[in-house]
Amino acid sequence: MNKGKLFIISAPSGAGKTSLIKKLIPHMDKLIVSVSHTTRARRPGEIDAIDYFFTSVDTFKKMIHQQAFLEYAQVFDNFYGTAQSSVEQSLNSGKDVILEIDWQGAEQIRRILPDSISIFILPPSTEVLRRRLKERGQDGEAVIDRRMQDAVNEMSHYAEYDYLIVNDDFNTALTELKSIILANRLNIQRQQEKLKVLLVDLLV
Ligand code: GDP
Ligand code: ADP
Ligand code: 5GP
Repeated sequence: MNKGKLFIISAPSGAGKTSLIKKLIPHMDKLIVSVSHTTRARRPGEIDAIDYFFTSVDTFKKMIHQQAFLEYAQVFDNFYGTAQSSVEQSLNSGKDVILEIDWQGAEQIRRILPDSISIFILPPSTEVLRRRLKERGQDGEAVIDRRMQDAVNEMSHYAEYDYLIVNDDFNTALTELKSIILANRLNIQRQQEKLKVLLVDLLV
């Protein structure tokens, strides 16, 4: 079984990463998104174990001690982390895995798994970013202000990524995201592994 690839997707809150990934997954074979653990409060409509594993700070700290996380970071005063076991299992079963994580997590993953692929998503403007956070209707004014402040810090890390997408028109951004994943699936090393039998057959 050939191992899957890890795709890291980062963006400031409200840039559209969750909407893009949600739309992408059902259209692609062998692609899953990792469900993170978080200590932040559940938003209306969010489902435990689907959107996040909503966890207490105590449990999160226990998991840190048990080295259960592939990476974890503090974002907007909350802890967020990717559990190691499920990601490993999925990669070993040949699935590509998307991690929707912040720049600090991306930095950690690049160190552990240097052949992971990272994608940064930008909003088309600061005004649009604020409007999307408001219109999403999930966070209060104070939380939105905090996220807008942190957005500049998050975006200042864009150049550490392999690919950059501007999510202006949703469908254009979705096509671009899909193209990056498809192109990486056609990479020569991956294809050589996948097409071993065909290549032997063709080259006799
Ligand atoms: P949203 O981005 O506005 O939907 O807000 P969230 O509260 O869902 O996420 C806030 C930030 O935490 C985003 O920058 C995410 O990329 C990041 N994040 C989510 N899960 C993880 C994780 O498992 N690890 C790390 N390092 N960051 C995460
Ligand atoms: P993130 O996961 O990066 O915080 P979301 O996926 O929750 O962002 O998107 C924030 C809001 O913006 C949502 O209400 C979403 O429907 C909306 N949105 C996402 N992409 C676009 C787009 N290209 N044009 C207009 N609205 C968008
Ligand atoms: P769903 O997967 O339920 O269709 O979309 C999730 C969210 O992404 C919705 O809240 C919606 O606002 C946003 N979204 C989905 N498709 C589009 C699109 O084509 N254009 C825009 N602007 N937003 C979209």
